[in-house]
Amino acid sequence: VKEKKTPVSRRNFLKTLGITGAALAAPAPLLAALGNNADPSGAGAVKANQLIEYPKEMPKIFYKRVPKKDGYVGTTKVLNPVGFPDAREHGFSQFFIHGANKDYSGEWGQLLKEAQEEKKKLMATLTEEQRQDVMWGDAIVQASDIWHINLEWGKWAPAPISPTKLELPPDVMSAKIKKVAKWFGVDQVGICEINDSLRPFFFKIGRTQGSLRGGPRAGVTVDNGREVPWPYPYKYCIVLAKAEGLYGLKALTGPLNNVTVATECGEDDIFPRNLETVVRQLGYDARAQSMNGTEDFNFVAMAVAAGLGELGRNGQLISPWGAHLRLSAVTTNMPLLADDYMDFGLQDFCKTCKKCAENCPSGALSLDNEPSMIGGVLRYSFDAKKCTKQRTITGCAVCAGVCPYSKPDNIVHSIGRVIGQNPVGAKVLKNLDDLFYGAHPAARDMDGLAPWRL
Ligand code: SF4
Ligand code: SF4
Repeated sequence: VKEKKTPVSRRNFLKTLGITGAALAAPAPLLAALGNNADPSGAGAVKANQLIEYPKEMPKIFYKRVPKKDGYVGTTKVLNPVGFPDAREHGFSQFFIHGANKDYSGEWGQLLKEAQEEKKKLMATLTEEQRQDVMWGDAIVQASDIWHINLEWGKWAPAPISPTKLELPPDVMSAKIKKVAKWFGVDQVGICEINDSLRPFFFKIGRTQGSLRGGPRAGVTVDNGREVPWPYPYKYCIVLAKAEGLYGLKALTGPLNNVTVATECGEDDIFPRNLETVVRQLGYDARAQSMNGTEDFNFVAMAVAAGLGELGRNGQLISPWGAHLRLSAVTTNMPLLADDYMDFGLQDFCKTCKKCAENCPSGALSLDNEPSMIGGVLRYSFDAKKCTKQRTITGCAVCAGVCPYSKPDNIVHSIGRVIGQNPVGAKVLKNLDDLFYGAHPAARDMDGLAPWRL
């Protein structure tokens, strides 16, 4: 899909207002604080991995830290949450098991059948080039997902725990661990303490199977699950966040979007295992957790608790740099210092914005003006069945791609990030975003970034 013209040319508008010039004339410390990488705005020739999209150190002018408060996880109110009893209820786990057994019974079975039929119809309408795009895309997605299978529950052999402990004050140890994690390649790291307030966000039954996205695996027709112990054997959770390629994400659906999302998901099997090994070699028990059947909890809740961002209308972790962070974690007993929560005004901004819900192709996201208490968490409703079906047919990250915060690290967007922090500014920022990117942003023509395109 070619990029449609947005109502206003961003470049010309900036020229007219002289903002570009003003930005260039800004004092160096301000530029350094805001970040000054260029937005290639649609330049298909630029390789995604050459673009700096996410700051490793998020400047403090874009958020405030708030201390822990009873009845809240981050900025989200919680009231006797019912929790997440069984990780196997996740949409893709349901599709995997139903698909493996060719079981089209029940709501999930019926939904899988519909998704398979609609995908077949869609495939029949594609040109030869588009059909080849899908083949490349599917192959690359499998290359990422195969990590989920080879590292699934019980297959990874952890390094021994060294009998020699490195003893450091918790604040120093935390700073060093975060720096090492970023050295391995993640973008943001936060730490939370695992206590009773986070119990509802831990599964009672965990998965044991990593899955190939949307596809059955030979010989695997059941996930027997595993009990997640409580009291939990680890005191801290180090949450790792890696940004998906922003420009691939802005393809919104289809093969390039799929490979962008999936590749990051596969890499997130590796980062926590690197860090797990480091922690164990420093003398402390640790366990890596990623979306491959080894996860004991809901990652978004843990990331919010670890101060990496806030819960958005779309159910994702949103940071001042957007909705395109993928999550993994290491749980450990290493003495660490938990981070305070992050607040950048998102709860008010989401009430004004609604852009994810207005653009969701399946209608899975709520357009309500206010969040409501759902399962003991003050949030917006989300229809997992509609979303899983859509993602199976076309692949989809529209809600992450159109979020006004999902923007590159440059000065103009950073000014927007500051404006969005208060409720009055939120309306201004939403209107500016609609003006420059459209209320319904078209998928960008980023085909030049597809790794299989010459
Ligand atoms: S991934 Fe797509 S279908 Fe699912 S909620 Fe987001 S926009 Fe809607
Ligand atoms: S698109 Fe808007 S409403 Fe949705 S999560 Fe992002 S800021 Fe919130």
